[in-house]
Amino acid sequence: MRGMGLDTCRRWVGGLLLISLFCLVVRLVGQDASGQPPVPSSPGRLLIRGGLVVDGSGEPGRIADLRIVGDQIVEVAPRLRPRRGESILEAKGLVVAPGFIDIHNHSERGLAEDPTARSQVLQGITTLAVGPDGGSPWPIAPYLSWAQEKKLAPNLLAFVGHATVRREVMGKDFRRPATPEEISRMGQLVEQAMREGAVGLSSGLEYDMGNPATTEEVITLARVAARFRGIYMSHVRDEADAVMDAFREAIRIGREAALPIQISHIKLGTVGVWGKAGEAAALIEEARRDGLDVTADCYPYEAWASTITVLVPSRRHEDPVAVRRGLDDVGGPGNVLITSCRAHPDYEGKTLDAVGTLRGTDAVEAYITIVRDGGAGVVCRSMTEADIRTFMTQPWVMVSSDGGIGGRHPRGAGTFPRVLGRYVREGKWMSLEAAIHKMTELPAARLSLHDRGSLRKGMKADIVVFDREKVIDKSTMLEPQLEPVGIVHVFINGRAVVRDGQVTGERPGTVHRHTASPKK
Ligand SMILES: [Zn+2]
Repeated sequence: MRGMGLDTCRRWVGGLLLISLFCLVVRLVGQDASGQPPVPSSPGRLLIRGGLVVDGSGEPGRIADLRIVGDQIVEVAPRLRPRRGESILEAKGLVVAPGFIDIHNHSERGLAEDPTARSQVLQGITTLAVGPDGGSPWPIAPYLSWAQEKKLAPNLLAFVGHATVRREVMGKDFRRPATPEEISRMGQLVEQAMREGAVGLSSGLEYDMGNPATTEEVITLARVAARFRGIYMSHVRDEADAVMDAFREAIRIGREAALPIQISHIKLGTVGVWGKAGEAAALIEEARRDGLDVTADCYPYEAWASTITVLVPSRRHEDPVAVRRGLDDVGGPGNVLITSCRAHPDYEGKTLDAVGTLRGTDAVEAYITIVRDGGAGVVCRSMTEADIRTFMTQPWVMVSSDGGIGGRHPRGAGTFPRVLGRYVREGKWMSLEAAIHKMTELPAARLSLHDRGSLRKGMKADIVVFDREKVIDKSTMLEPQLEPVGIVHVFINGRAVVRDGQVTGERPGTVHRHTASPKK
């Protein structure tokens, strides 16, 4: 202590003692909070410790701790000291990711039956966007209020459907282009929906209600959504031989209405276009290079589910030649499985081929009869894995389920674990980080969800903790409800909806209303 006076030295030692005492107290508090001896944890204070944090950005995961207070993430760092009253969740060996956001979900009605959204949260889904394919709840405001009052497990947002407003205006007389007056009336309804919080306009131009619409009709309505900074999301007019034209139409709508375009469940569904995913991707890349904001989503299955009539795009449902052609295009009637049929419940679970045999006729006659008797729901195995891989690995393609609560297609219960298990772990199609990005930050950006889809300070605490070595789907075409494995914990707004693989029954979801003051 040369050069230091005695007083200075004393003060110095005293200071050191004080600092040591302070450190000791801090350490004791830390020990206390880590649960030895146990202290009661306060609700809404949680430390998720030691997991591989994959934050949604696509950047490499890193081992880190994550602190949640209330419904928010307040800290993410390599090592966080537990605080008094904080519960601790050990996540060593597990992946910690943002909750999955399903941009194309059909649970709008299923949520009334099961507000815990069991089949959805068990996949790690924490936010559902409903109202796709042109069919949405109507009107939007009462639906969103209903969802809020019902208290749902997942967060919810809604699109307004083109077919929905078309039905409102045209009623049963919809098999024709709309008149300018009708289009103007539809525009008013889209405006109403956007003011009430819809996130954009969805269309299903392949379906009976949407198909008679001209491109100009859709452009006019998309312009209304654009004024409110909404997006245009489309099940395109044709997913079969004319699919490239259908993609071009979607791009044209986005260009002329000046709004972002989301191509729903991008696919190539007929023999004639199998293997052309690269060509389709190039078409979309070109539009993106032109400055258009085009993205897409994709579900991880080679079979689609829809109404039986989409098998015959010419709509000549009574014409045996057209029907034969439609069935050949999907690789034959053995690829078409009837999943629901009101007039003939005994056909459910059988292929169209088998139904023909059962009737003592053939698949073409069976098709004509089923359509005449009111139609059916089908799943049809008509996509190739190579095309799915090409689409799924594009940087502008996100994961969506196109499923929902109680769906008859395995995607309703298996989509997200399937991508993680089959495409990431087994197939090594892409990194875990890239897959998580497609399930979180990418759809969040698309839906203008600025406080979800990423694990950062200040974001809402929607979190999935899963086992990357075990995660996999179990649902199949014949048993579409089988639950996946490997999703260990799911938090929504800071509360556990799945804990140790079990649904807790908590319903902490919030309703998201898209807000944007109209552009001039
Ligand atoms: Zn669709």
